[in-house]
Amino acid sequence: MRCKFCKSRDVEVFLRQYGLALCRIDFLRFFEKRIRYAIDKFKMFDESDSVVVAVSGGKDSLAALYALSSMGYNVEGYFLDLGIEGSSDVARDKIIAFSKKFSIPVNIETLEEKLGYSLPEVGRVMRRPSCSFCGILKRYYMNNWARGKVLVTGHTMYDEATTLLANNLQWKLSYLARQYPVLPAEDGFAKKTKPLVFVTERETAMYCFFNEIEYVESSCPLSKGATSRKWKRHLLSMEHSTPGLIIRYLKGFYSAKKHISLPSVEEECVENCERCGYPTTAAGLCAVCRIKDRLTNLSK
Ligand SMILES: [Zn+2]
Ligand SMILES: [Zn+2]
Repeated sequence: MRCKFCKSRDVEVFLRQYGLALCRIDFLRFFEKRIRYAIDKFKMFDESDSVVVAVSGGKDSLAALYALSSMGYNVEGYFLDLGIEGSSDVARDKIIAFSKKFSIPVNIETLEEKLGYSLPEVGRVMRRPSCSFCGILKRYYMNNWARGKVLVTGHTMYDEATTLLANNLQWKLSYLARQYPVLPAEDGFAKKTKPLVFVTERETAMYCFFNEIEYVESSCPLSKGATSRKWKRHLLSMEHSTPGLIIRYLKGFYSAKKHISLPSVEEECVENCERCGYPTTAAGLCAVCRIKDRLTNLSK
C-alpha cells in the first residue's frame, strides 16, 4: 500500500471511512485540512479573531488547541479546575506540561476560587449529584472567559453524530433546530464553534501521538454509564459494517437543515442577571448566582 498523496511506502494510517492510506506527514496535513474545511465551511473564525479552546486535558481538546495554534490562529486554552480529586489535578498537570512544552498559553481558573467550593463540595452541600451542577457551572465560567472571543469545544464527529442520533430517535425537534457546528454570539453569550466536527477520536489520538502530545485517558469519574455512550456504541457498530456512514449521516443533516423547517426554539426573553450580568431567562438572578445563594444559606 502506498500513501495516496506522496506515494511513499511508509503508510502509517489507514482511514476506512475514506478508503485512504497515508504516511505520517500527509496524515497530519490531512487532519489539519479537515479542520480548516469545517472552519471555512461554517464561517467559524479567521486569523483576526481571538479564539479560546476549552480544554479538559483529553485528546480531543488538546489536539484542537495544538492544531489551531500550528495553523496560525490567534488561540489560547481555558481550563476550569473543578477540584475532583484524582481527576482534575491530573488533568491540570497534563495541561500545564502541554502549555510549557509547546509554548501555547492556557488560562486556568479553579471552581474553588471562583465559587468558594469544589464541584464535589457543591454536590455534598446541596445534597444532589455533583453532575447536575457540572454543565451549568462549566458553561458559566467558560462563557465569562470567552465573552467577545470565539469559543471552541473539542466535540468530534462521533460526539455530534451521537447527539444527532439521540435527538432523532426521540424527535427532539427544537434540539435538532439548534444542532449546528457554529452558534452565533448572542444575548451576551460567546460565539460557539466545533472545528473538530469532521474528524474522529481515533484521528485526534493519532494526531496527539505523532505530535507527542500527552493527554489524560480517562473520562470524568463522576459520570458513569451516561446513556449517550450507549448510543455511541450503536453508531460505531453501524459504522463498522458500513464505513463512512457516520460522516454521510452528519453532513447530510447539516445540508438537509437548509431545506427542512424545524420549529425554532421558543423565543425566550433573555435578560441580564441582576447581580453578575450573565444572560438568563429567569427573572432576577441567573442559575449560578442562585446556586451561590443556596450554598451560602445551606452552609450557615
Ligand atoms: Zn505521504
Ligand atoms: Zn448571576
